[in-house]
Amino acid sequence: MNVQFDRIALIGIGLIGSSLAYDIRRLGLAKEIVVATRSADTLKRAEELGLGDRYTTSSADAVKDADLVIVSVPVGASESVAKEIAASLKPGAVVTDVGSTKASVIAQMLPHMPDNVHFIPGHPLAGTEKSGPDAGFPGLFEGRWCIFTPVAGTDEMALKRLRSFWEALGSKVDEMDAEHHDKVLAIVSHLPHIIAYNIVGTADDLETVTESEVIKYSASGFRDFTRLAASDPTMWRDVCLHNRDAILEMLARFSEDLAYLQRAIRWGEGDKIFELFTRTRAIRRSIIQAGQDVDAPDFGRHALDKK
Ligand code: NAP
Repeated sequence: MNVQFDRIALIGIGLIGSSLAYDIRRLGLAKEIVVATRSADTLKRAEELGLGDRYTTSSADAVKDADLVIVSVPVGASESVAKEIAASLKPGAVVTDVGSTKASVIAQMLPHMPDNVHFIPGHPLAGTEKSGPDAGFPGLFEGRWCIFTPVAGTDEMALKRLRSFWEALGSKVDEMDAEHHDKVLAIVSHLPHIIAYNIVGTADDLETVTESEVIKYSASGFRDFTRLAASDPTMWRDVCLHNRDAILEMLARFSEDLAYLQRAIRWGEGDKIFELFTRTRAIRRSIIQAGQDVDAPDFGRHALDKK
């Protein structure tokens, strides 16, 4: 047991909140876990799964006397949650979030945070395309990065406490400013999801290819995109709306590069095409070397093959 906090309040208990709950319990990081979510149905499911010690639909009640508050809701809901919890926060509490965009979450939450709490925005780079409390599992954060985007004047001790928490979950912690985070995430996460949503939508719209063919022949590359395109629509709508500038910048770059590739294909410029595909293959190797994926030629097919 490695108790770090007396009471942890989890606001939002979907994929991320429930995965946190499993690990906090498994690793004994808190004496008490309080679970809050807005709907009675999700709360009931969290209770059935035994994710906490206390359950409530009131975020304000949940944060009372909590030493650590973790907000795990779609980024567009950050301000309303901040407003709801602000007056009930315990002096000295650490308040963090897990939102996929950071500048917007800071703009929404910081103005409502009392001076006597430590607000430290965070983002674990871990997840799946599933959502809701049933999607969570222990070990989700193991070996993954968690990025903090601290605001000016953040207390060093509070930062250290939160760092120790994520490290106990097996994460590696990095710090950067929120604008930089949003740019990096726009290219490594947000753009790939937008491309996947778009390509799956295009296939769905094609009159010459029937839906049954799209499904039947999906093994040929398309299936990998459908995994991303099955991600939670609310979460990803909010990411698009709340990291608009960085996403638009990356989409512009992407469109230029796509035009280059399009031109090379049109003019039969095999050397250019080959050079690009060779370069991108090396990126995949670097990701595997960095331990951020395994080299199995798989992407989810492994489980299917075993059926
Ligand atoms: P999720 O599984 O869809 O769960 C969302 C939770 O937020 C539920 O408890 C839901 O409550 C609550 N919620 C939804 N809308 C709300 C609103 N308007 N006001 C208050 N609460 C609301 O989501 P998730 O995948 O855990 O994502 C949570 C956060 O983590 C998001 O900010 C996301 O950007 C970030 N994140 C996600 C991933 C990923 O791969 N999924 C990875 C890293 C970070 P009810 O069910 O009771 O309505």
